[in-house]
Amino acid sequence: MRIQLVQKRTLVFPLWLVVFLGAFPRLVSAANFYAGISSDTVPWTNGIVPYEFTNTLTPAETNTYLNALREWELAAHVQFVPHTNQPNWILFCYNTNFIDYVNGDSYSPQVITVSSLSRAQVCHEMGHSFGFNHENIRSDATNYVIVLTNNIADEPEEIGLFVVDPTTVPYGNYDFESVMHLGWDFDSINPGVAPTMQPTPPYFSRYQYRMGNFCLSPGDRAALAYLYGPPLVPLTNIVTTTADFGPGSLRAAIYYATDHPGTTVRFDIPTSDPGYSNGVFNIHLTGHLPPLVTDGTVIDGSTQPGFAGKPLIIVDASQILPETFTSDTFLIYSANNQIKNIAFTGFDWNGMTLEYADATNNTISGCWFGLDFTGNNAAPNAFQGILIAAGASRNIIGGTNALERNVLSGNSQYGVFITDTNTTGNVVLGNYIGTDFTGSNAVPNGKSGVFIGNGASGNIIGSTNPAGRNILSGNTEYGVILTSNATGNVVLGNYIGTDTSGSYPVANTIGGVFLTAGATGNFIGGTVPGARNVISGNTNGPYYDYGVLVAGASGNTIEGNYIGLGADGLTPVPNYYGVYFYDGATNNTLGGTVAGAGNYISGNTSYDVLISDPGTSGNFVEGNFIGTDATGTNGIAGFINVELQNGATGNFIGGVNAGAGNVITAASFLGVVLYDAGTTNNSIRGNSIFGNYMGIHLVGNEYYPYVTPNDVGDADTGPNNLQNFPVLTNAFGYGTSTIVSGTLNSATNGSFLIDFYRNYQPDENIGGYGEGQFYLGTVSVTTDGSGNANFSLTNTSGNYAGQYIAATATDVSGNTSEFSADVLATNAPAPSAQFTGNFRWNAGGFVFNLTLATNFSYRIQTATNLAAPSSWADLTNFTATSSILNFTDSTATGSRIRFYRVVSP
Ligand SMILES: [Zn+2]
Repeated sequence: MRIQLVQKRTLVFPLWLVVFLGAFPRLVSAANFYAGISSDTVPWTNGIVPYEFTNTLTPAETNTYLNALREWELAAHVQFVPHTNQPNWILFCYNTNFIDYVNGDSYSPQVITVSSLSRAQVCHEMGHSFGFNHENIRSDATNYVIVLTNNIADEPEEIGLFVVDPTTVPYGNYDFESVMHLGWDFDSINPGVAPTMQPTPPYFSRYQYRMGNFCLSPGDRAALAYLYGPPLVPLTNIVTTTADFGPGSLRAAIYYATDHPGTTVRFDIPTSDPGYSNGVFNIHLTGHLPPLVTDGTVIDGSTQPGFAGKPLIIVDASQILPETFTSDTFLIYSANNQIKNIAFTGFDWNGMTLEYADATNNTISGCWFGLDFTGNNAAPNAFQGILIAAGASRNIIGGTNALERNVLSGNSQYGVFITDTNTTGNVVLGNYIGTDFTGSNAVPNGKSGVFIGNGASGNIIGSTNPAGRNILSGNTEYGVILTSNATGNVVLGNYIGTDTSGSYPVANTIGGVFLTAGATGNFIGGTVPGARNVISGNTNGPYYDYGVLVAGASGNTIEGNYIGLGADGLTPVPNYYGVYFYDGATNNTLGGTVAGAGNYISGNTSYDVLISDPGTSGNFVEGNFIGTDATGTNGIAGFINVELQNGATGNFIGGVNAGAGNVITAASFLGVVLYDAGTTNNSIRGNSIFGNYMGIHLVGNEYYPYVTPNDVGDADTGPNNLQNFPVLTNAFGYGTSTIVSGTLNSATNGSFLIDFYRNYQPDENIGGYGEGQFYLGTVSVTTDGSGNANFSLTNTSGNYAGQYIAATATDVSGNTSEFSADVLATNAPAPSAQFTGNFRWNAGGFVFNLTLATNFSYRIQTATNLAAPSSWADLTNFTATSSILNFTDSTATGSRIRFYRVVSP
């Protein structure tokens, strides 16, 4: 037994002490028969076992005890009959003193006392009475098990239970799963941790935890049939009664299937059956069902006449007495089985458990776990709907048509719980998890819809086929949680927080998807349309409910999803927060640079993206549409699109490489805000930020929100160190280019990247400080010893005269500033020159004045004769920095006739 998070593990023989008082009559022998037990010499002649129960038992206890004994009647020609005047009989006792024993002194009566009314305990003690000794002390046992003496708690009293008894006689193969075999941690100094017996190497992996049994093993039943002959009524594959004992019962059919590989168990229970009510057949279990240990069994609830889609067969464990002391579940240990269209409710562990490495390629479909017969109300299993654990792999939960849809809702913990390393390749698709059977209303699982953790890897929740979509909504915690080193799992194509239409919220109370505690390399969504999850509608009143949460998890990818939008991609179905990275989330990617990777994160009530806490760093937010619908062009109003706070550092909002920029728009308040000191080194580059009340805000001491003014030398501290923004001086459209010039004052001798953006509209909300709708380009500058730098960008992608240019500065640590003030790009003035007088000779030559348009280059040329071919010679070549030029032609000495002209350039 291993200790696991929130898992109640089965003790097959809990706190069980076996004591033999006196000498058991050792007549002959068998499976591991007592000496003297044979088919000719059995303790109970003709298989007739007269019995009485002590008068301290309640009727329910008596019934549970008797049903357990009747397991043996399904195995062989034995029969328990009430004691009348037979000389030999059994008095069955139940005593919680943890001592279980068969008094072998006498048959008048023989006293059998059990401390638990579990199938295992009762069957075991009765096995002794029938002539079986413990399987693990067969004379050949040392070939099969190793006793770990140091882990045995009660030496020397109990050590005898582990010692081979050479007087016993093995019959058939060694049977690890015999009900007469002690469990792996029987009498352990540390139950659930320290084994007292282990299989020898050839058997270790299969039987390490599969020693002992919950009821009878195939070997137990074969051995009893050998002693007493075959059962009175042959077993069949047809279930004809809701009773939990006897021929025609579900457990009888499971035993039949165990003995006949490839069996389909069918149902044909008459409506006259006492378990028929409300239009369904209620099989009220009184003890643990046999595990499925044979490959290829089908148990098909749809075969019950009248089946029309909803399960008619209800396997209800809620009436199993606490005195049975077992962790009830329907166990699958084998491969290629199919369980169809049955409801499992009221188990005190899980509705179903697929466990260990042999449990592969099973299909569970059309079943309900945790719902009552209406499909509208909870009828909880106490732990999970389905547990997939300890290496159970490549199983399929659900399918792609309505008859294959499981509904896993109302369970006390999780709908589906996938755990342990080597538990891989399981697929959960087409189910409703956390809702009623219509997928419209919440029937919460007590924790989350699907759990993947403890190293489970490579499992798939959902499908790119829309018919394989899970509805993961209405759960008390999350739709899906990936935790404890869950690695490489994929969650795709689901609706998480909505109904089946994807349009109406059915909130998970804390959030849609939670990645935490070392979850690594998992994918939420994908780049093809079918992989998109709709993670929306997770609102728990006005606060604290999230679409996606990532905490203490790294290297995960969240891409291609709608987060806050309905399935139409147009209608807001808000989460309170969209995506939340916090508590040390590192190196995760929200979106991505390739086609289809961007998420649409819009319309969420408070923040679309929130990044928080020390150690939350290295995360990439790229290629997303934050604040738009799925067209990418229509704004969906929100409050804050992206916030970084509380010491989150070194994160990347966008980037200048192809596909990295996000669209960040339509926030009624802030596009991107960095809230507090210590939230530094977060770069915000290459995005399309527009249509927000304010584009980027580093919150300083100013009135909130307003531009944080530059300080000379930029020594101030705060979010992103309150990096000074550039000051743009002018912008001209000229030809097919745009030229932007400006200055930066910041730290001395520092390198900075100046990113330029153009906007169709000025941002008038905050006094003309800009946003950045279209990224234009970047120039790198280095400040001088006074912290100053001039810069100029020539962008050749177009002439953007009439548009508004803004810029940011980012230092080498990634601290990006707020946007600069807008500057309107104008058409550049044309070069012009005019001779404006003062023509005269002086000692230096011929003098005249020119009036020029500044900032253009000119050449002044001269010629002495205009007759063709004329010959113009440059006198000077210059850029006009002043509009008036007083020029002297010092070459004008040899001729009294000269001509002048000015050209540009
Ligand atoms: Zn025993």
